Amino acid sequence: MSKPHLVLSGVHRHYGEGERTVRVLESADLVVNSGELVALVAPSGAGKSTLLHLCGLLESPQSGEIEIVGHLTSKLGDRARTQLRRSTVGYVYQFHHLLPEFTALENVVMPQLIAGKAQADAEQRAMELLDLLGVAPRATHRPAELSGGEQQRIAIARAAANHPRVILADEPTGNLDPETSDKVFAALQSLIRNEGAAALIATHNYDLARKADRIITLKDGRVVAHTV
Ligand code: ADP
Repeated sequence: MSKPHLVLSGVHRHYGEGERTVRVLESADLVVNSGELVALVAPSGAGKSTLLHLCGLLESPQSGEIEIVGHLTSKLGDRARTQLRRSTVGYVYQFHHLLPEFTALENVVMPQLIAGKAQADAEQRAMELLDLLGVAPRATHRPAELSGGEQQRIAIARAAANHPRVILADEPTGNLDPETSDKVFAALQSLIRNEGAAALIATHNYDLARKADRIITLKDGRVVAHTV
């Protein structure tokens, strides 16, 4: 049964003070269930990155509640937030940020070692993910020896390495050609189904967004269903 892994209730987020206040989110509500992939499509400056940062506990709202896998976060201190983020959230960026001096496999193993997993188990998990994402044959290559699409699939594997219940992606196919974007998105989709994570993906690409379970946008600081 699907569970609400990510829940935002009445979230307000503004930047600045007084006349210069930029009200980005005003009473935003959102629920993303396990195994669900939600695409976030909105014009530049609408608040997509802000919403993702809030969901990823990288920023805090001025008011409202963000609940991740049943944990209320509004009253958590910095350390507890960081710990919750590390154990529940996987983040994929537009640019992969893979470590250049390490192989694809090592890049996916690393976050697991940091989380305290044994080397053999971490390697097994990494190979499973690389296989699922169709890049297992590239496991021993360094990022510079990989195509943009391969690099991005490895970044997705890295984000998923510690079994995050919530996967957030900010324009994950933003710098890829259409055909490669399709492949990367399909890989992301199969990963989410397979792992039962809740995913929120910001994208400008409508063709990809249409493949999501649902499309949302931001209007007057609220999250609303996107109608084409
Ligand atoms: P998007 O990702 O949709 O392009 P953002 O979430 O980056 O939008 O930004 C939403 C609005 O908030 C923009 O008007 C932006 O200028 C403003 N903003 C974002 N971050 C800050 C900040 N740290 N300080 C002031 N304004 C900000």
